[in-house]
Amino acid sequence: MTERATHCTSSGLPLEEEASTAFPCPNCNHPIGRSPQSRNQGVTYVCPNCGFKGP
Ligand SMILES: [Zn+2]
Repeated sequence: MTERATHCTSSGLPLEEEASTAFPCPNCNHPIGRSPQSRNQGVTYVCPNCGFKGP
């Protein structure tokens, strides 16, 4: 069972809203969370574990 991210990796905000998303890093499977604000703004996420960057 994969751990679910609890905070947006871009903004640091807690992922409380339903519109937020969490998914495993494509590179290392570390859980990554994104807030709705970051998604809407197209903020690039950065994996806190391996530094992988994605759209
Ligand atoms: Zn990673």
